[in-house]
Amino acid sequence: MAASLVFRLHNRGPELVREVLLERGWEEYDEKEQEEEDWNLYWRGSAFCKSEYHNLLPWQRLNHHPKTAGITRKDCLARNLRRMKATFGSALYDFSPIAFILPNDYTRFLDEYNKLRLTRGPSVYWICKPVDLSRGRGIFIFEDIKDLVYDCSVIVQRYISSPLLISGYKFDLRIYVCVKSFHPLTVYIHQEGLVRFATEKYSLSSLKNLYAHLTNTSINKFGPFYKTQKERVGQGCKWTLSKFRHFLHSQDINQLLLWQRINNIVTLTLLTIAPSVPSCPNCVELFGFDILIDVKFKPWLLEVNYSPALTLDCQADVTVKKSLISDLIDLMNYTSTDRLRERAYQKHGHKQPCLHADQPSHVPIPVLPKAKQSKFQKKTRSIQSSQTQALPLIKTLHWSEKINRRRTRHHEQPAASWKLPSIYRYIQLFIIPLEGTTAVNGQHVPPLRVGDFIRTFPFNTATLEASQHKLDVKIIIQELHKLTAQLADWRSEEEEEDVEGEEDFDSLLWGQKDPPLLRQYFKP
Ligand code: ADP
Repeated sequence: MAASLVFRLHNRGPELVREVLLERGWEEYDEKEQEEEDWNLYWRGSAFCKSEYHNLLPWQRLNHHPKTAGITRKDCLARNLRRMKATFGSALYDFSPIAFILPNDYTRFLDEYNKLRLTRGPSVYWICKPVDLSRGRGIFIFEDIKDLVYDCSVIVQRYISSPLLISGYKFDLRIYVCVKSFHPLTVYIHQEGLVRFATEKYSLSSLKNLYAHLTNTSINKFGPFYKTQKERVGQGCKWTLSKFRHFLHSQDINQLLLWQRINNIVTLTLLTIAPSVPSCPNCVELFGFDILIDVKFKPWLLEVNYSPALTLDCQADVTVKKSLISDLIDLMNYTSTDRLRERAYQKHGHKQPCLHADQPSHVPIPVLPKAKQSKFQKKTRSIQSSQTQALPLIKTLHWSEKINRRRTRHHEQPAASWKLPSIYRYIQLFIIPLEGTTAVNGQHVPPLRVGDFIRTFPFNTATLEASQHKLDVKIIIQELHKLTAQLADWRSEEEEEDVEGEEDFDSLLWGQKDPPLLRQYFKP
């Protein structure tokens, strides 16, 4: 029997990931039974350390990219967005409420506070949040600076005091974003997500009532009205995004621009860190973007969650999160067995899995060092059709040596006898056919959709090219502008000519229930 794929969960969780992977026939890693490197996916809620990235073997993947705290810590996000505002203009980066990191920015905050008091009077509200806490812990809202009391590093952010309400209840959206790769930037957004409601009616006269002002489930599930049938909202505090789309439709609200603006928020936020995230093709990351919509239908970014909660509190969670994780695993593009890991063990003789010679091997292609790449490309060009995609792996050049070293450390086998197969020798077997994958100008285009994940970046030939080598943020921003303008005024686009090369590139309209191709939308 061929070896199953093996997953490893840090601290035995999250349960949902275990459940989905076991259902898919994966095996759970057992440190007593298995070798240290005998796993395919390591999932943890907290960050991996540097050595874990460095010691990755070709068949191993991690669920976090390195150095993403730049958007997932509240203070770092505020700092990075401020920097982008200064570089690319505040009009573009106006989707995040102005924020100050205290105590450092206290004087700047005071200036802004006084300025707004003079121009707008007292009706300006602020929200204070500890920089490294989550789930609504330590958050309070204030109007008067005398109520601002803090004993740790916090961010004070302008409070969006006129949120869009449904039957008087405040809500925000949890949008699930998968960054398949930072180099080249490849982003997918899940069609399904969550709408999280406050459980008491919104009122600015009760700033202390967290059940009316915060939409965190971790807070609202302990509220006195959590189980009550609330007008239109229903019981509990969550809807699926599909239900929300249905609601908008029933209100005759044009959703197109709203979704595109959220899409832009995701891309523009990721651009703040993309150039500084080290390349680690064996990593995939799921982020939770929290978006608040105000009465004018403007979406605001509240925060980006590092490890979005995967607990199942209600039916909406079950509906959304189970298929989310399943689609995420599909996006990682594993196949049913791992021939590469298997061969390593077979060669060594420690494990003797039964290989099925007639079964095609679908092991990802490793990323080669620049010097070897052209040779590799020449060798494989004839094999790779436009319908195949190379799924890159980490630059682990001396992985056989690494594994040797580790084994020697464990005094189990002399390093010399522990030889792994050459990743280059087996290159022909490593090609993974991915449905819907095409090539544009010789560059491979990631699939349009995988399950309910819709590719939102790159979304055209220009952005594909601008993200291939050195990320060209300027070009990407120009293209985002163009696309949003086209969507705002899509009728005029019908008369325009095709952009050269554009016909080779397909993009779906994220956010739509049955997303049409952008092209089809512009040319009905
Ligand atoms: P946490 O990481 O603790 O969940 P968030 O930044 O997500 O912190 O804030 C928690 C909740 O507070 C949000 O879900 C939202 O309901 C509310 N909130 C946060 N910031 C703002 C803001 N600037 N304006 C209005 N509501 C906000």
